[in-house]
Amino acid sequence: MDELLQLKTMLNPCIQCGTCTASCPNEVDMDLVPRKLWRMVLMDRHEAIFDSRTFILCSSCYLCTLRCPRGLPLTAAMARLKAIAAKRDLAKYRKSTRFYKSFMESVRRHGRVREGEFMGLYFLAMKNPLLPLSFASLGIQLMKKNKVAFELPAKPGIGNLDRLFKKVAEIEEAL
Ligand code: SF4
Ligand code: SF4
Repeated sequence: MDELLQLKTMLNPCIQCGTCTASCPNEVDMDLVPRKLWRMVLMDRHEAIFDSRTFILCSSCYLCTLRCPRGLPLTAAMARLKAIAAKRDLAKYRKSTRFYKSFMESVRRHGRVREGEFMGLYFLAMKNPLLPLSFASLGIQLMKKNKVAFELPAKPGIGNLDRLFKKVAEIEEAL
């Protein structure tokens, strides 16, 4: 079944009560509040959904999921929209999805993020040679405060969390 149709079926019991919006700590920065985003999904307004930054701003805090009176898996629904945007490589979300993938690649390799490697992977993914310059001042400040260690990137390939990542990918595929 089409991914958006699956999502629509999942959200069908929504009664538009707005509890998800009232619970969301990031709602103030969202262009479509969560309740409206679910309405757009139910009305097949795909353009409005992917014009919005709402799901990208979801920080997976699970408050909406815990409080929804219909017991809907709303955090998973937000994650599903992020995954669809990443799979379609939509220009509007490219920066966010490449940032996220670079972060997770470093976690996959080491079981934790290595900040220097993570940013290196992100710069490579963005294919913009000037991008590191915009992070230089922040990077220097963080290094001075020992918040970021300089570590040489590891070789890609087998990672410490490969089995875990594989299992999660299987579960997500089956959802
Ligand atoms: S809390 Fe649940 S039922 Fe209420 S608007 Fe949000 S998704 Fe719909
Ligand atoms: S899981 Fe996402 S959408 Fe739900 S309350 Fe938290 S930040 Fe908001």
